[in-house]
Amino acid sequence: MGESMGVQAGRVCPGCGEENSIPLIYGMPGAEDFQQAERGVVALGGCLMPEDVAAFVCRSCDLSWGSEADPTADEAELAGLLGVEHADVVRALGSGWRREPGTTGEDGVAWFVSGEPAQVAIGIQAPWFVLDRPAAAWGEVRQGPLMGEGHRFTRDDVLHLPDVVADAAEVIASRRRRSFRWCRTCRRVAPPETFSASAGACEQCQRAAEERAPW
Ligand SMILES: [Zn+2]
Ligand SMILES: [Zn+2]
Repeated sequence: MGESMGVQAGRVCPGCGEENSIPLIYGMPGAEDFQQAERGVVALGGCLMPEDVAAFVCRSCDLSWGSEADPTADEAELAGLLGVEHADVVRALGSGWRREPGTTGEDGVAWFVSGEPAQVAIGIQAPWFVLDRPAAAWGEVRQGPLMGEGHRFTRDDVLHLPDVVADAAEVIASRRRRSFRWCRTCRRVAPPETFSASAGACEQCQRAAEERAPW
């Protein structure tokens, strides 16, 4: 069974257009599955796997639809901007891409990130795209068009040199992962830009601690 619960980001229901779909799980449900179904964060699909397995169910219109492998709305947009199929994106760049909100500057570069926390960023300005590390301050770092010397690629690289693109993305992602820190309060991993080294905690936990003890 999948690990995801709750409303799936970027999964827009083809029936009603709402982004309000939750995972549909199959097989004999355990006690935990029943609890989660009661909370409405998953739906139970029954013990028998139907031939045409739907991965999600829409909480707005009850439609069962889709599969895990389908691109999200953001991933479909990314493939469209690159002018390739979603499968080509996955082969060369991996999955889990989401539009980085608030990064569409006047320079016309569309930014997407992948990983949780974000590990690699792709900026697209046809016919080029660059791979880069996700930045905390996109506005400051990303001035001007994609003319830097970074890792610059084209659509042809995605189609014909997927391994080269994948390696470049993984170099950035693994370096980025090494910069992550563990929060001593929530014990989740945090990217350096939202981690307070002095407090040893993520921004969110540090803010919560300040609210509890305002003196
Ligand atoms: Zn729907
Ligand atoms: Zn924390």
